[in-house]
Amino acid sequence: MDQLERLNRLPLRDDLRGQHPYGAPQIDVPVLLNVNENTFGVPLDAKEAILKAVADELEGLNRYPDREFTELRRALAAYLGHGLTEANVWAANGSNEVLQQLLQAFGGPGRTAMGFPPTYSMYPLLASGTGTAYLAGVRTQDFLLTAESAAAQVRAAAPNVVFLCSPNNPTGTALGLDVVRAVYEAGEASQAIVIVDEAYAEFAHDGTPSALTLLPGRPRLVVSRTMSKAFALAGARLGYLAAAPEVCDAIRLVRLPYHLSAITQATAVAALRHSDALLANVEAIKVQRDRIVVELGGLGLAPARSDANFVFFGGVADPQAVWEALLADGVLIRDVGIPHHLRVTAGTEAETTAFLDSLRRALGH
Ligand SMILES: *Cc1c(COP(=O)(O)O)cnc(C)c1O
Repeated sequence: MDQLERLNRLPLRDDLRGQHPYGAPQIDVPVLLNVNENTFGVPLDAKEAILKAVADELEGLNRYPDREFTELRRALAAYLGHGLTEANVWAANGSNEVLQQLLQAFGGPGRTAMGFPPTYSMYPLLASGTGTAYLAGVRTQDFLLTAESAAAQVRAAAPNVVFLCSPNNPTGTALGLDVVRAVYEAGEASQAIVIVDEAYAEFAHDGTPSALTLLPGRPRLVVSRTMSKAFALAGARLGYLAAAPEVCDAIRLVRLPYHLSAITQATAVAALRHSDALLANVEAIKVQRDRIVVELGGLGLAPARSDANFVFFGGVADPQAVWEALLADGVLIRDVGIPHHLRVTAGTEAETTAFLDSLRRALGH
């Protein structure tokens, strides 16, 4: 009996039968450009500050951590600005956990969450894990979403939760705030919680406004962020949200007590004190991102406008073959399962060069 058969004999929930776990490949190759990490790493002075902060926590490690992680919430609010205070901020182990907690509080059996694919692949998985039905909205042929279309779809579906990803993963393009405003209004009838996932906000082109500016007067609006991308801290697992204080109170009903370890809290607070150093490479990454867009266009491919640290590109005759050819050269990128498209993370200049050289060879240029 193989493991799948043994799994099928377990008394697993019916709605989880036949499902597949999230599984971006974790392959050990020299150039890793497949999960949109910040490949520059953590600067030395930030690393030293984190090491000291963690060491200082060891003395009290026999005690439970601050359940309210107040110092961290205060530091996150100060980083976000926009007049936010710790009462507006919540955090968890990655924004994935933040989104899961939101679904635990506002989704669940008998309720629906709506997203607009292609978008972040975790939304349907988080919905499934929390017993929330997932409704897939539609975009235009070139993967864009207009305010009129999004609002009409939300009005028709009357979901309990809406995910708007801006900049959108995997396409990279930011949404205009007109879309957020229109979806919020369209969600009035079903009292939808509207989550704007801004995991890549720090990489947006200058002048791209954040949905944080829309929070005043919108108690059903939530903006989620993460330290996994711009802050180069994917391994630390720290995501957060900004919303009305009562949204944070709703999450307190479902969160596990002490879900943020003392080590995580100390790491994130120390990192935020060094946010300038940690974010210093964002501009360099944006330069490589824009370079990829220009060079892919020159190769006759069709890169999407990107406000993120990755580029989604079409015009690939055989994505699987190109993905494999790059891997053979030690360059791992992402096949997101959309015909004729691939996605690549913008890394250092050297990594970007390795990617472009390998891609040229793969395409026979
Ligand atoms: C990477 C990513 C996240 C971040 O996940 P973490 O759990 O914070 O590491 C959230 N949303 C989107 C769209 C992402 O691409």
